[in-house]
Amino acid sequence: MLTDDVREILIAEEDLRARIAELGRVISADYQGKSLMVVCILRGAVIFLSDLIRQITVPHEIDFMAVSSYGGGRTESSGVVRILMDLRANIRGRDVLIVEDIVDTGLTLTYITNNLKTRQPASLRTCALLNKQARREVDVSVDYIGFDIPDEFVIGYGLDYDEKYRNLPFIGVLKPELYIE
Ligand code: IMP
Repeated sequence: MLTDDVREILIAEEDLRARIAELGRVISADYQGKSLMVVCILRGAVIFLSDLIRQITVPHEIDFMAVSSYGGGRTESSGVVRILMDLRANIRGRDVLIVEDIVDTGLTLTYITNNLKTRQPASLRTCALLNKQARREVDVSVDYIGFDIPDEFVIGYGLDYDEKYRNLPFIGVLKPELYIE
């Protein structure tokens, strides 16, 4: 069972649900009267996105971008970010909200925001379900944060280790003996 690999549950399903409903309310109020372009960073943010947009009441479109910063099986960001799949939409003049699973060193989100800024959106904000402030290497602004978490490698609710555990309905800490740095 996948759950046997979990050392502890950090954020339970009902806490995720409650916080995401709150984020949806705040985002909907902030973008009242506007139409939003929500950009999901694949693959980790896909479950967060699907729950979040159902709590956003302003009209919006969604689009996807895939980036890679880790090699297989690693738990450390390489710092080298590549776009594996770009947006389909033209975001020029749009109000854009980037939805990310977790901000760790901040390198990935910095790369993405700098990249999207060059496309001249009307506005650009960021939303991350999880924030690991202790590991930050670059100063990146995150406008909406679901939860601040300690410096632990987490899995579940879209987050993986070596492509596993994304389907766990909670955020958990992987047993350290199961990963190789
Ligand atoms: P950063 O560039 O170091 O901020 O890393 C961001 C990316 O690394 C996230 O989008 C995740 O895909 C991945 N990541 C960072 N920390 C974790 C973690 O604890 N569990 C799973 N993936 C993580």
